[in-house]
Amino acid sequence: MLKYDAAVIGGGPGGYECAIRLSQNGLKTALIEKDELGGTCLNRGCIPTKALLHSAEIYHSAKNASEFGINAGEIRFNYGAMVENSQKISTRLRGGIASLEKSHGVTVYKSRASVKNRETVLLDTGEELQCGHLVIATGSSPARLPVPGADLPNVLDSTSLLAMTECPRDIVIIGAGVIGIEFATLYSRLGIPVTVIEMQDRALGTFDKDITDFIEAELPKKGVKLVLGARVKSIEKGLKVNYSLTGDDAATQCAEGEVVLVAGGRVPNSRGMGLEDIGVRMDRRGFVETDGLGRTNVPGVYAIGDVGGKMMLAHVASAQGIVAADHIAGLPVKQINLNHVPSGVYSDPEISMVGMTEERARGEGRDVGTGTFSLTGNGRALTMGAAAGFVKFVYDKTTDEILGFHMVGPGATELAAEIAAVMKCEGTLRELCDTVHPHPTLSETLMEAARVCCGCCVNAPKPRR
Ligand code: FAD
Repeated sequence: MLKYDAAVIGGGPGGYECAIRLSQNGLKTALIEKDELGGTCLNRGCIPTKALLHSAEIYHSAKNASEFGINAGEIRFNYGAMVENSQKISTRLRGGIASLEKSHGVTVYKSRASVKNRETVLLDTGEELQCGHLVIATGSSPARLPVPGADLPNVLDSTSLLAMTECPRDIVIIGAGVIGIEFATLYSRLGIPVTVIEMQDRALGTFDKDITDFIEAELPKKGVKLVLGARVKSIEKGLKVNYSLTGDDAATQCAEGEVVLVAGGRVPNSRGMGLEDIGVRMDRRGFVETDGLGRTNVPGVYAIGDVGGKMMLAHVASAQGIVAADHIAGLPVKQINLNHVPSGVYSDPEISMVGMTEERARGEGRDVGTGTFSLTGNGRALTMGAAAGFVKFVYDKTTDEILGFHMVGPGATELAAEIAAVMKCEGTLRELCDTVHPHPTLSETLMEAARVCCGCCVNAPKPRR
């Protein structure tokens, strides 16, 4: 039997970083991946979607370049080449991970793994690995839609849609969460008719209401038909998606598309690999229960990333992997404060947030203040022809503590990192006001919004009393 100090099952952003850190910490480490290193993020998530979105943005910008004094002639896109480019980037990054694991002395096994007992991992190749510690980093998969017709050809999930090399003529997207909205952005930028059907009465329901109101108004301007409060009942050949509006079950309406994307959430990859047999506790949906350090209820067994379901983002998986690896090595560690973790949507314009929404802060009984700065007051946004959007802070009026940051506008996903750093360092709005930002940049909007909150913004009209 092969012996390791630690074995990590799953080579996504959680597992691959965890394995390297374990090895850096002096533990003999095995990483077992059944498919491709990089997991969902690199092969069928973050990276391929952003590559396709960037291609579509270039196409859209070139088509609309006359506003900037550029005549680009006839512009066409080649969807197959766009997909090929996205796959090339994934392949390159995958190669990078493989060589990183090798250089750090991690042994990588390409196999499906299951847990035989607390100390033994069984590979489909027949090998058995004995391990002192075990890290479950098996991620998540697209949830299926429990309606008739969900298995028809061309009813796809995000994985199969990303593998398509031909652009759909038109598309119906079921689910207005982050994944649904990003695909809606991709196809609408390419001029493809898009219908998004969402069961809730809001798109992107976890984001601040001011942000979701803004994006709901913006989507139709981009050619996206957004149907909220609608329950999908069935899908027929054609493809026809039958739905009824909440409270009106009798009247069925129909949306048609060559392709239907089911983007109704993700389920953890936790069943059928022996975790139940060793007593690992999971919730009703199969998410593995952990404490803030990634420990499950079984000593020596950790779970990180999507399979734990705390915040299903690649950077959270990676951060949890590092914390777990350091804790396993007996190093001093701090729990990740999820209130300081940025999340983003690569919509048009982009969205980001850190911390609490205004609703949540009020719900928690905080002494809530808010301040908003419009991008129309920012020179850089105007030079880019992208001044639609705003920055909003939610803060504690007594202490100036930043409770939440919300932005819709160009560069929002990058700019969130500044606020995450300020919040992590327990910085206040006042300190953000006094931080000199470079000009002309989009980052100035963060300082200006902070100054609005503190009543000292010179680039906004005097507030009416
Ligand atoms: P995964 O990345 O899912 O990796 C788990 C790995 O475990 C997989 O490679 C799987 O093959 C392997 N595995 C599973 N079971 C076994 C087994 N029994 N034996 C061996 N191996 C096994 N997040 C962001 O932060 N930003 C984004 O922009 C973003 N965009 C996304 C876009 C899409 C379309 C999707 C679907 C997701 C996106 N995400 C994004 C989410 C992000 O991809 C996940 O949060 C992240 O990949 C989770 O990492 P993980 O390591 O927990 O799991």
